[in-house]
Amino acid sequence: MLTAIRGSLVWFRDDPFLTSGDDALVHVDDGLLVCRDGKISAVGDYGRLVRGLPPGVTVVHHRDKLILPGLISGHVHYVQTRIIAAYGRQLLEWLNASVYPEEERFADPSYARAVAALFCDELLRNGTTSALVNCATYPESVDALFEESVGRGMRLAAGKVLMDRNAPPELLDASPEQGYEESRKLIEKWHGVGRSLYAITPRFAVACTSEMLRVAGALWREHPGTLVQAHLAENRQEVAQVAELFPKYRDYVDVYEQHELLGPGAVFAHAVHLSKREWKRLHRTGSGVAHCPTSNLFLGSGLFSMRRATKPGRRVLVGLGSDVGGGTSLSLLQTASEAYKVGALDDCPMDGVKLFYLATLGAAKAMRLDGIIGSLEPGNEADFIVLDPAATPLLATRTARAESIDDLLFALAVMGDDRTVLATYLNGQLAHERDTFPRPEPAHRHDKR
Ligand SMILES: [Zn+2]
Repeated sequence: MLTAIRGSLVWFRDDPFLTSGDDALVHVDDGLLVCRDGKISAVGDYGRLVRGLPPGVTVVHHRDKLILPGLISGHVHYVQTRIIAAYGRQLLEWLNASVYPEEERFADPSYARAVAALFCDELLRNGTTSALVNCATYPESVDALFEESVGRGMRLAAGKVLMDRNAPPELLDASPEQGYEESRKLIEKWHGVGRSLYAITPRFAVACTSEMLRVAGALWREHPGTLVQAHLAENRQEVAQVAELFPKYRDYVDVYEQHELLGPGAVFAHAVHLSKREWKRLHRTGSGVAHCPTSNLFLGSGLFSMRRATKPGRRVLVGLGSDVGGGTSLSLLQTASEAYKVGALDDCPMDGVKLFYLATLGAAKAMRLDGIIGSLEPGNEADFIVLDPAATPLLATRTARAESIDDLLFALAVMGDDRTVLATYLNGQLAHERDTFPRPEPAHRHDKR
């Protein structure tokens, strides 16, 4: 199955936090993206590539639109979709008042399935083609999500939350052994099915005993290729509580490290309140971080420091996360906009190249999935989005006077939302379209050249 898409192509070859934006960004103004059997088989200048297309192939032309790799969310909770925008509390109170009562409802498979369907559709509507997702404690909640994501052809990484203390009893694993067994069965059932990846998910050190964290480390060792996701240093009260619960450890990162939970493929959400030592350990171990600015602001958690995270010599792999329901939008464009503002407060204003890098290749690298997703390079899976710089009158006015591709990307990141996403493709196939869609161009049009 061959798909050919024409438009202005944008992706990343390098990390703009380490090199210049010009070196990191690839922009082909009139480009062609050719997808075969779900993967990108060729990318480059339209005029050059179109001649190599087999006869009869229709080219879909997204005129005056930008085509980028599908966006990747490094951290989100599908089981919190319905409690987004819960007023008035900070993390620990908010978990007890809003989150845990809702997550208890995911013991019901039909409830879980309905929310999972809504969640997957919303991701696609927002141009998010991959995500690292927390489910609830119940294995049924994981089944529901993967059933929906596999049906749509999405590459999601997800797992059941492991927790055995400091939450309502209905939501806790009965024992670390039970958490281990249920996770192991879910890995066997789902890891590698369709494009699914299993993510071992100790919720956070407050809700896990040392035995439970050890179980999580053992699961990861025993199942190469799985991911690890957990929360880290989101809120000051939480950090203090971890210090009380784990008095023998140097700090929060040390708690995870001593339980063998750091390394490539481990992604920690938030990382707002970290010491220099902790940043160093994340760097040395190749662990990833998901920056979740809308959540950090909404829950009054604090300001993530991109400056520290990307310090030369100890660069940590960072992606963006929507963190719904603490986050206030599933749009990674809105997330990027808040990331810019948080960066501005930290004397680290990020340009359009950096913001889109974080939402694509940056997140893929943090999840150890670069080379598979997050890029338009041949060989990558053909997940991509079409962004409309004229999606609203105000956006059209602003982007019409964009001075460069970087400036155009910046305007899209700061002002964009779900309306900006004209189309989302999975495996080279259209998975979502906003409304108006260009007509395919008959192949013979290029034969006349
Ligand atoms: Zn979270």
